[in-house]
Amino acid sequence: MDSAEYERRIAARFATFDQDGNGYISREDFSTAAAALCAEFDATARSEKGQALYIGAEAFWQGMAGIADRDGDQRITRDEFVGGAVKRLRDNPERFAEIARPFLHAAIGVAGAGTDGTVAPAEAGRALKALGVPEDVATAVADALDADGDGRVSEQEVVTAFAQYFTVPE
Ligand code: CA
Ligand code: CA
Repeated sequence: MDSAEYERRIAARFATFDQDGNGYISREDFSTAAAALCAEFDATARSEKGQALYIGAEAFWQGMAGIADRDGDQRITRDEFVGGAVKRLRDNPERFAEIARPFLHAAIGVAGAGTDGTVAPAEAGRALKALGVPEDVATAVADALDADGDGRVSEQEVVTAFAQYFTVPE
């Protein structure tokens, strides 16, 4: 991958986290993401599933801040993201999966997980769109999420795909 392509991918990842688009990643971006998912799937923030999602979003933020917010100002700048998060997540994708898992678990719940804890690819696509991913990309990613082709997306498939997406190779 050339450096322009690498920069483009990093910018896309940063933009995914910077949900409110104000140029840095903060706690508000995570609660914004939780609110967007609740709205998309008609869950209230006070419902059991909604609460789990907000708790997962806060844990995700705390984990990301612990990795990347080097100056401790409760904001992850683009530089902190590139220098801290991207490098450390690449070195340790399991750690990233661990940080993101409670949020992803709760997101699957809000998106209508069956009793087996899986969702249909179409629901995964709706979730991605609600988080600002363009429709064509969201649909392609959601279909690819069903790695074993059984027509359902499991939590493990989501966690693995998420970690792969954010651990950008140099
Ligand atoms: Ca932001
Ligand atoms: Ca900072």
